[in-house]
Amino acid sequence: MADPSSPLQHLSIIVPVFNESAGLQAFWSRVAAVLDDMADTVSADVLFVDDGSRDDSLTLIQALAIADARVGYLALSRNFGKEIAMSAGLDFADGDWVVLIDADLQDPPELMPTLLAKAREGFDTVYARRAERLGESFTKRATASVFYRLMGRLSRRVEIPADTGDYRLISRRAVLALRQIKERNRFMKGLFAWIGFPSAAVTYVRDPRGEGVSSFSLWRLWNFALDGITSFSTAPLKLATYAGVLVALLAFVSGGFIIVKTLIFGDPVPGFPSLMVTLLFFSGLQLLFIGVIGEYLARLFDESKQRPLYLLKEQKAAAIRQPQPTDASTVARGRSTVSPATQDF
Ligand code: UDP
Ligand code: MG
Repeated sequence: MADPSSPLQHLSIIVPVFNESAGLQAFWSRVAAVLDDMADTVSADVLFVDDGSRDDSLTLIQALAIADARVGYLALSRNFGKEIAMSAGLDFADGDWVVLIDADLQDPPELMPTLLAKAREGFDTVYARRAERLGESFTKRATASVFYRLMGRLSRRVEIPADTGDYRLISRRAVLALRQIKERNRFMKGLFAWIGFPSAAVTYVRDPRGEGVSSFSLWRLWNFALDGITSFSTAPLKLATYAGVLVALLAFVSGGFIIVKTLIFGDPVPGFPSLMVTLLFFSGLQLLFIGVIGEYLARLFDESKQRPLYLLKEQKAAAIRQPQPTDASTVARGRSTVSPATQDF
């Protein structure tokens, strides 16, 4: 962890942005107000990560970066998804502390001083725990709650705190640890938990979205959940074994039953419906588990291709920050398309 006695610590705020132009200005004014308030305890920069937005989010961010020395940005070459956008931010953020916050004002920026104060008590991760989630549908809250509890049971060693989003403050030490994680199917909440280190929670009320709509459809959430489960648990694979054992036992018992029945009652030829049901049940079960294996295989395939995690089309460091020395892990992870001469980092 960074030395708490050093004169003025620096805070880097990572903001993944995907089609947020409607609320970006409001977001920045609230963040800027908070940063002004915190100015005597910490200096700060904001690193927007434009995740291939199709609206004019990037233009707005560029304007902010010109207007305010505290603003820097990365622009990914296309939409890579929030998890990767956050990882890109973590590769470049160079503060003693780093905050990850959504751009839609669902995570109140006013909580940052509390997060920082808590972290300074000696925690590497201070995550914001949602007491209430306003403006989110019942199904979203219910599915999220089931998912986080299921994840908790599936991955016992890695404790993923329930009711937390990605809004959190982490230490430099934790950032460096996260940079070492190379996997492509990134379930960040799991990875935050995986690195360990002392952590604490601060409770807050999750506001409804400021502007626009959530870009996570039910289908996207389902895939997100699959990523989470497959990257932190192999339990579904083992399930096939146990289901197999159970089914074999059942077959044994029903086999015995048929033998006895035939010996006693003879052998008329009944049972077409039960035959069909059995057939369908077992072919269904087999396909299901082939599918489960497929989910893991597909991710294995993805990992084995070793593509860079993201590509940058543009980048600009906040003017108040010093250029960052080239970091080997960054070079290996994301490859910049910007020529070294124009590179700001
Ligand atoms: N986001 C992103 N890439 C994406 C989707 C979302 O960077 O592909 C950002 C988005 O701009 C926002 C944050 O991730 O800052 C959370 O997204 P959203 O509000 O849509 O998710 P929800 O709050 O519904 O989980
Ligand atoms: Mg949101």
